[in-house]
Amino acid sequence: MYEGISDYLEVMQLAGVSELKRPAQIQGGVAQERSGVSTPMSPPEKTGSRPFPAPAQPAPVPTAPVPPIRELAPPVRVSRPAFEGKAGELQMLAEEVSQCTLCRDLAESRTQTVFGVGNPDSTLVFLGEAPGADEDKQGEPFVGRAGQLLTDIIVKGMKMRREDVYICNILRCRPPGNRNPMPEEAAHCRPFLDRTLEIIKPKFICCLGAVAAKSLLASEKTIGALRGTVWNYEGIKVVCTYHPAYLLRNPVAKKDTWEDVQLLLREMRSVERQS
Ligand code: URA
Repeated sequence: MYEGISDYLEVMQLAGVSELKRPAQIQGGVAQERSGVSTPMSPPEKTGSRPFPAPAQPAPVPTAPVPPIRELAPPVRVSRPAFEGKAGELQMLAEEVSQCTLCRDLAESRTQTVFGVGNPDSTLVFLGEAPGADEDKQGEPFVGRAGQLLTDIIVKGMKMRREDVYICNILRCRPPGNRNPMPEEAAHCRPFLDRTLEIIKPKFICCLGAVAAKSLLASEKTIGALRGTVWNYEGIKVVCTYHPAYLLRNPVAKKDTWEDVQLLLREMRSVERQS
């Protein structure tokens, strides 16, 4: 060991060291380096005839200053889905939808896009018109009063669970003031609907209301004329009925929807029997 601090400083001077720095931070006798390398802080040992001592520990590896996290990992689009299979494909599509600005007014006024909800392996898709205020707020289709009635139709009328079916809309953004979707908006959103259906591959679609039925089937017929018949869309059987919001305003029409649901169930059972 050195006789005293002046001895140590003299040796350092001989070695050409003109300035000594204080360690930045010492915890329990160990300097904490930014790089994570810890260096013991005991003074170097005197070693025979050497003009200055060899370091007791390997010199800390010089490290480049660590840039802020933001520079290391700039925000990137999440492209790896959290789920496998259909759920993952839907998740990626939903992410794409969330960045859509094709309908400028809708993109500016929406709280969020409303993609779809339910079982991606379901054979049955319910297709509505567009999100309303509740859906825009919660990011899930059919969660308001009309949504509660749809749940009743599924649970009480069809003896199924809401989570067993898949539910989505023609539009994935809320039209301001709950106005009807404009044809241009429906056209912008159509590829998202078609891709949703390509992923889920349902055997049945139940159109809820005139907007959904006419848009999906590219028909000018009224909802009254479209209901009661099983239509074909790209190999998928389509049954149309009144929109739950219409049923809330016109409860007498519930019996018609009951008939439509029975037609749908008959079709579903018959296809089930054949497979
Ligand atoms: N009406 C619709 O058509 N879709 C919804 O999601 C909610 C209300």
